[in-house]
Amino acid sequence: MLVRARNFLHTRTGHLALTYLAIIMAMTIVFSIVIFAIASNQFDRPLPAHGEFRISRFTDGDTDIDTLFLQRASEAKAGLLISLLVLNVGMLLFGVWLSIYLARLTMEPIEHAMEEQSRFVSDASHELRTPLTALQSMNEVALRRKKITESEARELAAANVDQAAKLHGLTSSLLGLIATNHDTKQGPVDLQGAVGDAMATVVTAAQQKHVTVEDKVPAVTVKANQSQLVQVIRILLDNAVKYSNDDGEITITAKPHGTGVRLSVIDKGVGIHADDLPHIFSRFYRADASRSKEQQDGYGIGLAIAKSISDHMRWNISVHSTLGKGSTFSLDLPTITKS
Ligand code: ADP
Repeated sequence: MLVRARNFLHTRTGHLALTYLAIIMAMTIVFSIVIFAIASNQFDRPLPAHGEFRISRFTDGDTDIDTLFLQRASEAKAGLLISLLVLNVGMLLFGVWLSIYLARLTMEPIEHAMEEQSRFVSDASHELRTPLTALQSMNEVALRRKKITESEARELAAANVDQAAKLHGLTSSLLGLIATNHDTKQGPVDLQGAVGDAMATVVTAAQQKHVTVEDKVPAVTVKANQSQLVQVIRILLDNAVKYSNDDGEITITAKPHGTGVRLSVIDKGVGIHADDLPHIFSRFYRADASRSKEQQDGYGIGLAIAKSISDHMRWNISVHSTLGKGSTFSLDLPTITKS
């Protein structure tokens, strides 16, 4: 028990609890001193001058009235002192409980944020280390060789460029993840235009895989932040292309949903296993490649960015998927109501 208490006092929550307790006790003690001083002042007030009335009502045999009053005053002061001491001890016990409770309440979200932060740093470092280790070992092997042909040197340079491109992609994604929360201004946005902008960025990748993208989005104005909306749609489209099979089909629709509109990106690609579905919006999570047969390049950051933006903008992002059949990612957006 004592060891547990000592360990607790060495934690951040323990330090804060001690600070709270010190504040509570300082206030209680100051109040007690003030109350005692005021009361003592009242008790020590001199008696009015002797008169007939006092003598008839208060004299008691041999006892002089002043002595009686002084005795009463010192008894009252002692009683008050004991009461205040008991109150302070009670306040100390209550203060211990209250300060621990308040410290835990304060520290919980802070510690959660700090844990998140350190997990992010450790996950990011882990992801960065993989291409860096590949770069280092490839070059070390090449340096240990006595001779290196021109074609080998070219191969090495190409592999270096490949790993550097991976590092570049990863750092850009990490920066994207950090920078998602800045621009939150929302206004009327033409959904067709936003989808068009997002499609333009995936055209080349889609053409390379002979994937067709059918845009069925009607003319509708949504309340959104243009650049953030384009970024979320681009991430969903990018994934739809990436996880589609060659000659696949992707459809983008927008249908009324509640008071707004539901934008859906539908692909007929590899799909997602039910076990992976709850995790795909988490940072650095990548579905088990063995389930979808082929591994695609990526870091598991895209959907985390899409989710982070959607949460900030209060849009709802959801997914329905069947392994081997395809996935539908949906984004619920508020529409602009004309006044
Ligand atoms: P990345 O695609 O870079 O791995 P994401 O965060 O965009 O990272 O996606 C996380 C995981 O979700 C992917 O690794 C993939 O397993 C799965 N996923 C996302 N979109 C799709 C999709 N349209 N079809 C199948 N799987 C998908």
